[in-house]
Amino acid sequence: MFKLLKKALQVGEATVEYPFKPLEVAPGFRGKPIYNFQQCIACGACAIACPANAITMDYNLEKGIKSWKVFYGRCIFCGRCEEVCPTGAITLSPDFELAATAKEDLYCKADFRLTRCHLCGEYFVPAKELEYILAALEQAGQPGSASHITRQVMEVCPQCKRRQGIKTAVKSLPRAVGQQQGRG
Ligand code: SF4
Ligand code: SF4
Repeated sequence: MFKLLKKALQVGEATVEYPFKPLEVAPGFRGKPIYNFQQCIACGACAIACPANAITMDYNLEKGIKSWKVFYGRCIFCGRCEEVCPTGAITLSPDFELAATAKEDLYCKADFRLTRCHLCGEYFVPAKELEYILAALEQAGQPGSASHITRQVMEVCPQCKRRQGIKTAVKSLPRAVGQQQGRG
């Protein structure tokens, strides 16, 4: 017994006093993802990358809202959302204490305004995402005059673009056929 006590004193404390004292985590520890609404552009890349489906995005096309939501109860702290986020809006923190008494406390949500297509009037793209892309193009050296045209093109929804593309193709068809016949 005395020998055992002596050994224990030599070894020192082998346990920690958590939860009475904060627990230090290892460098690079991946804990609760922290979300920054100001930086988020609602692009949805994190929702696509999340392997646990902890992040979801929903559209309300009647109200013109795109909703971002994370459910920490499903999160496996893999860090994929942080990796793919183009704006640094989501980062993993050292926080691992996620216990909650109500399930609702494990959600983080945000709503984003959608822009309407200027041809059909339907909501389709988050305004913040559109502005982010236009600013990126301008930074990449696109002249101001071109950015006006780019904005007009980008404010057209994919369905209208497809319809316009088909119309243009149909219009140019007789000309293309004529050229083919001329060659023949
Ligand atoms: S850390 Fe992984 S599981 Fe958690 S929200 Fe991000 S991508 Fe999803
Ligand atoms: S990837 Fe980043 S910017 Fe895009 S929706 Fe997720 S948190 Fe927001």
